Amino acid sequence: MEKPQVELREDVKSYLEATFLAETEEGDKCRLSFRRLLEVLASPPLYTTLRVNMLKLSSQEIKAIINEELTMIYKSKNWDPPQIFLHPSLEDVLVIENRGPLQIKEMEKEVVIDHRCGMAVLRGADIFVQGIIGAPANMMSGDMVSVYIDLEGKYLKGDMQPLGGSRFHVGNGVAQLSRDDIFKTKPTPSGVGILMSEPLYEAPCLSDLRPDLILAQNLPSIICTHVLDPQPGERILDMCAAPGGKTTHIASKMKNKGEVIAIDRSDHKVDKIRSNLEKWGLTCVTCYACDALRISVVPAGGNLNFPEFPAEYFDRILLDVPCSALGQRPSLKNHITLNSLKSYSGYQRKFMRKAVQLLRPGGVLVYSTCTVTLEENEKQVVWVLENFPDLQLTAQVPNLGSPGRRCSGLSKNLQQLLQVFDPSCVESRDNMAVYNKDTIGFFIAKFTKMKS
Ligand code: SAH
Repeated sequence: MEKPQVELREDVKSYLEATFLAETEEGDKCRLSFRRLLEVLASPPLYTTLRVNMLKLSSQEIKAIINEELTMIYKSKNWDPPQIFLHPSLEDVLVIENRGPLQIKEMEKEVVIDHRCGMAVLRGADIFVQGIIGAPANMMSGDMVSVYIDLEGKYLKGDMQPLGGSRFHVGNGVAQLSRDDIFKTKPTPSGVGILMSEPLYEAPCLSDLRPDLILAQNLPSIICTHVLDPQPGERILDMCAAPGGKTTHIASKMKNKGEVIAIDRSDHKVDKIRSNLEKWGLTCVTCYACDALRISVVPAGGNLNFPEFPAEYFDRILLDVPCSALGQRPSLKNHITLNSLKSYSGYQRKFMRKAVQLLRPGGVLVYSTCTVTLEENEKQVVWVLENFPDLQLTAQVPNLGSPGRRCSGLSKNLQQLLQVFDPSCVESRDNMAVYNKDTIGFFIAKFTKMKS
């Protein structure tokens, strides 16, 4: 059977393929890897990584607790026990090996869910009522049903009959409510609507699982904060912080001592950062809902009124910029337009200009994206080095990714200083463990501001 590929608009696909080809020496190999990339993006990473709260307990202790809890959950679903281990080189990371794709039978009763919900299911989630679009009239609580993602948006909320169009089978589960409970009760019920018992991929369902001790985070995102390397007592700026995965990591690494400023544009997303910090007992962070580009840089000295900060105020800045997010996995469709795709790099440069003014000489700036385009990644680095002569590209620790891709203006030596996670290369990077390679697509560059 042909492997599914992420569905992109045709013009976006041609554009991406052309830039990939232009920057590669062996065109054919790249064409192969572009197809491979589209396939890999459609499937979930085969490992779930959890960052553990070492301010509460040791990694070993947390591993034992999570192992016990997950073993119980897996047992109740009739699955083999989970395989959990500590990451050999990252002290605060637990790795869980998932299983799939598995063979699953199609049941008579069919439930249709939206794409977003389907992506969560492929990474281990159960199905919340809000994600359900359609269910058969005779569906009762306790029924075993097959669950499909509606790939074409052809179903209307509450539909009973499949309307055709392409769908994707993500597994089977047990309905927790009847169809009438879901679509006819007011107010609409919340909570789990279908408990997945035979998913396409067996992966841990982490909602409500010891949120004080673990946070599910993709491996490259965890590495990103290790590369930033914040120290207790420092002043750190996290410019695009929500939902705060990296913010909680920064504050934890600082042992909750120092001053962290976390900014995000959206109010409700900033609430999410605050709630994540609270769960982990972290208090050294001040969160602001604000457009980070509106920070005004003022001379040191006088009184400060947010969003004012003195020039060169911060020791380290994390710039985890808004990006086209094409590295996110799994994704069966992404209908981003070409114009929108092309607009990101200009937007990202604005953050970079602001960050450079706020960084002290000797300070560290980490730029990261969860996408795969050269424009938002390697080409941004070339632009930074051309426009900010006092920024120097710096080696990263740890570095578990691959070097940057070839790009005009970037020497081989500079490529080596970058850290790229490209899941389409899973087979080719020999001496690296699979859990370090089978990740989302991600890019990290580290700069140091030179002292004049
Ligand atoms: N660092 C986060 C993920 C950030 S994703 C984590 O690790 O959890 C990029 C974020 O940038 C989004 O949450 C988006 O709301 C935010 N963003 C976009 N434009 C912004 C702006 N002008 N100012 C501040 N935040 C912005």
